[in-house]
Amino acid sequence: MLKKYLLSPGPTPVPEEVMLEMAKPMIHHRTPQFSKIFSNVREKLKPLFGTKEDVLILAGSGTAAMEASIVNTMSPGDKILVVNAGKFGKRWIDIAQSYGVLVESIELAWGRSVTAAQIEEKLISHPEIKGVFVQASETSTTVYHPVKEIAEIVKLRENTIFVVDGITSVGVYETKMDEWGIDILVTGSQKAFMLPPGLAFIALSEKAWKFVETSKNPRFYLDLKKERKAQNNDTTAYTPAVSLVIGLSKVLELMEKEGLKSIYNRHQVCADATREAAKALGFRLLAQDIPSNAATGIIMPEDFDGQKFVKSMRDDSGITFAGGQDHMKGKIVRISHLGYHDFMDTIIAVSAFEMGVKKAGLDIELGAGVAAAEKIIIDHI
Ligand SMILES: *Cc1c(COP(=O)(O)O)cnc(C)c1O
Repeated sequence: MLKKYLLSPGPTPVPEEVMLEMAKPMIHHRTPQFSKIFSNVREKLKPLFGTKEDVLILAGSGTAAMEASIVNTMSPGDKILVVNAGKFGKRWIDIAQSYGVLVESIELAWGRSVTAAQIEEKLISHPEIKGVFVQASETSTTVYHPVKEIAEIVKLRENTIFVVDGITSVGVYETKMDEWGIDILVTGSQKAFMLPPGLAFIALSEKAWKFVETSKNPRFYLDLKKERKAQNNDTTAYTPAVSLVIGLSKVLELMEKEGLKSIYNRHQVCADATREAAKALGFRLLAQDIPSNAATGIIMPEDFDGQKFVKSMRDDSGITFAGGQDHMKGKIVRISHLGYHDFMDTIIAVSAFEMGVKKAGLDIELGAGVAAAEKIIIDHI
């Protein structure tokens, strides 16, 4: 027998109650029955976003909401500022350039967090910038960017919106979109929301909706004005991902039961335990400034084949960690503590990691990581 553990930062495991809910017979989406579920989940998403604005639900992966935030607010020739400090930062650039939007970027080594001062400097030297685009949690580098501090800078500028990819931060960290001054916040279903991939969520501030009025980019499926109109009538412009929305209603019920404070705290404890375990085993973390509570990136020794390790953990031990992406391929291992993941999952992750690297030939002390993790977790069980 090989029991499987999905310990990658997306997709993440789906709770049994949620899978059972989604296995029920299909219902039609143009019915009062679906509308009731739909309006209920949209309402319950608001505290997770920290907003009173409309949260729109799109059928698509997280990238659909990222693309929507550009095509609905910018026009060809407009300039945006992107923090390019990982794979997903780079994605903002790729989307913008596909639509003729010009990009000024802050390039950082993978593992670094941007500072609000760096953003401010760029905005001063390039006053034409219409949007600042950043990941709250850059999953490829397991780094958190200080979005609250950045919002303080951007919100002072009438002609610039602040757009945050919250795909691995909403549901992991307390996020106060309205209070902090985030203008667009996007997330997806397969990370902290404990669902299969296929839903994207997006909310816009009043300031961002004004940008929608003047944006001249072509858009059809991702037209947010059309979606808002439909969704505020408790339906969608096109067929919604019915089963995922039904799964979401169960997820939000579970989240409500656990309480948002406990959810954020659970992520913090699992993240702390994983980081301390890695350090106790003699590893360095990829995150240099602010590590993300969604996943921990561990730097592997120079001559270690990280790709082979991740593959063998998956195929021989049933443990799915994530490796590095792009130029980090083979060089790091990422252990998730995101979504449907509790303290004992962290113990399994750490134990599997230390046995795995030992078997792969590294000279580590078995149990040192687990001991370090337990020292943190024991105060929370
Ligand atoms: C996973 C992820 C994405 C991409 O989302 P898809 O659902 O794969 O389209 C974007 N940004 C971040 C920070 C992510 O973690």
